[in-house]
Amino acid sequence: MAKHKRKNNFGFILIIILLISSIGVMTFFIFSNKKSLENEQKLNKKLINKLNIKTNDYNEIINSNNELNKKIDELNNTVHKTEVTKQEVFKLASELEQKILSGQTTYKIAYLTFDDGPYYLTDKYLEVLRNYNVKATFFTIGSGKSKCYDNPNASCMETYKKIVDDGHTIANHTYSHGIFYGLYSSTNSFMTQVKKQEELIKEHTGVTTNIVRFPGGSSTAGRLKSSIIQELRNNGYGWVDWSAQDGDGGDLKSTTQAWNYFVNSINQDIEVVLFHDYNNITLSILPQAIEYLQNNNYILLPLFYESVTINK
Ligand SMILES: [Zn+2]
Repeated sequence: MAKHKRKNNFGFILIIILLISSIGVMTFFIFSNKKSLENEQKLNKKLINKLNIKTNDYNEIINSNNELNKKIDELNNTVHKTEVTKQEVFKLASELEQKILSGQTTYKIAYLTFDDGPYYLTDKYLEVLRNYNVKATFFTIGSGKSKCYDNPNASCMETYKKIVDDGHTIANHTYSHGIFYGLYSSTNSFMTQVKKQEELIKEHTGVTTNIVRFPGGSSTAGRLKSSIIQELRNNGYGWVDWSAQDGDGGDLKSTTQAWNYFVNSINQDIEVVLFHDYNNITLSILPQAIEYLQNNNYILLPLFYESVTINK
């Protein structure tokens, strides 16, 4: 009997042990499950935080893009308005030219032109023109511009854009200006230099030039002149020499000499004045030259393709 009872006790204890251990295992599972849930929630929170931060960044970028797009639209409008107004100025200038030619007005026109730049002095020329609110024309060349001739510390390349930004006409004086280096050896050689300069100006300003001045003047082209003119015409170009100057392309000795040369050369109702924006003497007389022309009833204008002064 006693033996049987002990056996029962043993069975009972075994069941208790089994019960306790299964409760332990279940508790372990429940707790470890809870812990992994907590971990997962932490990770989710991190993810949501990251998502929120990136969404904010994204919203900010979208907003600033919208602002930028608005500004680009405004800028495009301004560029368009500038172009339209410029064309209106040229149209009125054409009318004034006709009135001058038919003797219907006492007003006159002077087209100031600056050759062979940009140069490191060009900035100073632009400043004078800005002070007088005068627009002019720059017949630019491309050779030697990365070092700006005798000022190796200055680059002239940025000046192309400054000329255009200030509202002046930018025109083509060939890339090389190589009168003694084969520029006039053939029509093709000349046109290659015109095209090369056209590309340089286009690259730096976005403007496609349509006015050329022959280096040395059109007579320097000699027997090739008419075939070059034909080729210029085929390429949409007009050309112009000059009718007045201060002699700064030659060997100027003093401001007095330049001034006298200049004043004596002014005698037509429509003048195309030749200056060089590499010249210090011209720079020093430029303010008086502008005032002299204005006091003598000249309206100062930039050249444009349709002008009567442009040969086509
Ligand atoms: Zn020249």
